[in-house]
Amino acid sequence: MNIDTIKIFQSLKTPFYYYDTTLLRATLQAASQAAGQHGFHLHYAIKANANPKILDIIQSYGIGADCVSGNEVARASTCGFPADRIVYAGVGKSDEEIRIALEKEIFCFNCESLPEIEVINTIAGSLGKKAAIALRINPNVDAHTHHYITTGIEENKFGFYLYDLDRAIAACKELEHIQLIGLHFHIGSQITDLTVFRGLCLRVNEIQTRLKEHGVILPHINFGGGLGINYDCPTCGLIPDFASYFQIFEDLFEVLPGQQLHFELGRSLVGQCGSLISRVLYVKEGKHKKFVILDAGMNDLLRPALYQAFHRIENLTSVGTHEKYDIVGPICESSDCFGKDRELPATNRGDLIAIRSCGAYGEVMASQYNLRNLPGNYFSESVL
Ligand SMILES: *Cc1c(COP(=O)(O)O)cnc(C)c1O
Repeated sequence: MNIDTIKIFQSLKTPFYYYDTTLLRATLQAASQAAGQHGFHLHYAIKANANPKILDIIQSYGIGADCVSGNEVARASTCGFPADRIVYAGVGKSDEEIRIALEKEIFCFNCESLPEIEVINTIAGSLGKKAAIALRINPNVDAHTHHYITTGIEENKFGFYLYDLDRAIAACKELEHIQLIGLHFHIGSQITDLTVFRGLCLRVNEIQTRLKEHGVILPHINFGGGLGINYDCPTCGLIPDFASYFQIFEDLFEVLPGQQLHFELGRSLVGQCGSLISRVLYVKEGKHKKFVILDAGMNDLLRPALYQAFHRIENLTSVGTHEKYDIVGPICESSDCFGKDRELPATNRGDLIAIRSCGAYGEVMASQYNLRNLPGNYFSESVL
């Protein structure tokens, strides 16, 4: 962040999310280009950041939407994502949510259980519609990421298990208002070891071979999202390596005639463009430690408290000699801590602190716990 930006921050009420929309656009450009080269379809996972301004920018790149609630489907639609590029996943879709998605005529429901498909069939019938669905399969591939964000192994609640697949496909054929159009996979999030995606490709090849033997070829294969970002050094990896990611699927996935590939990226599209900006309220000296107490708390950014996530923390206004601090929020929970033993320039009350790489799963998870205000948000292109 340059001096002019920081000067403007001085006059703004903290805490707030700051989005570098130039970086966002460059990231979207890189992702669309890398996917487009192979003819792959991109859907943005709205749950990563549902800020309408961010959504408006993303849809302008011709990217579709991946939703996990009826309200996300509605938001995607109001923010300009065309219905035929909206997919909708989730283990617990309510009747009302299913109705919203059917009325919008979305591209595809990613379905996670037989009882869910039966309910979609009934509601679609009552509306005189046919629902296009994909089966979300739990491929039993370990994402090698934090266990809270691993979703593709058999002990998770997500998707159909492989041994259930034939039965599920047979059941779909019997349902008049269901059209099975694809298979869906999403094995986890913040995956930085790309060999995990190689494993996924090979597993899906195996599944397809088996299905083909039964005469089943489905036109759409959706590989979900999960590509990780560099939290340790945001500036080393401002734009994720989309080219290498998509190349894996190009090289290893055995695409069958007429098949189209879909991806649902969330974090990798928006993660690096956002920072949480806050002010230092107090510097408190403990017996063995110094604490920097921010005016931002876990209600503004939950990831560190929720899954011990690491975010880089920078002091934007001090240049003193470095010292070690624990950086904490004001909330009455010991988990309200953004970082332990972090080196910062000598820090004082009033300094501006940036918590980096907060564009994904940041603002969207903010709450009013302790009846605190929700954080504000600013965009580089409108504030500067
Ligand atoms: C969360 C989610 C995504 C996006 O995951 P990222 O790690 O943010 O890319 C994609 N698809 C589904 C079904 C999800 O639940």
